Amino acid sequence: MTAMPVTYFQAKCDMCGALYDGEDDGSAFDTANDALGVAESCGWLRERTTLLTCPDCLKCARCSESPAWVGGAGLTARHSQVLCEDCEPGPAKLT
Ligand SMILES: [Zn+2]
Ligand SMILES: [Zn+2]
Repeated sequence: MTAMPVTYFQAKCDMCGALYDGEDDGSAFDTANDALGVAESCGWLRERTTLLTCPDCLKCARCSESPAWVGGAGLTARHSQVLCEDCEPGPAKLT
């Protein structure tokens, strides 16, 4: 038997260094792109292809609370606004 290092990729927040933590063992990936894509689909903000920000570091576009997700807590793909779990997607409220 031979031993070899196994390399895998995990998505990491560029702001606080938090690793994306998948539900089961879905947090380690063969490619960096896969890792980024899964984190992105869970509401992490992905900018300039590789810059990632986790929900804890994102602020709601409407009330400035954290955590906030791209598409809101429901991850509504149609909206790309960053929203906390209390705010609904849509145009900013007029006060
Ligand atoms: Zn973070
Ligand atoms: Zn909010």
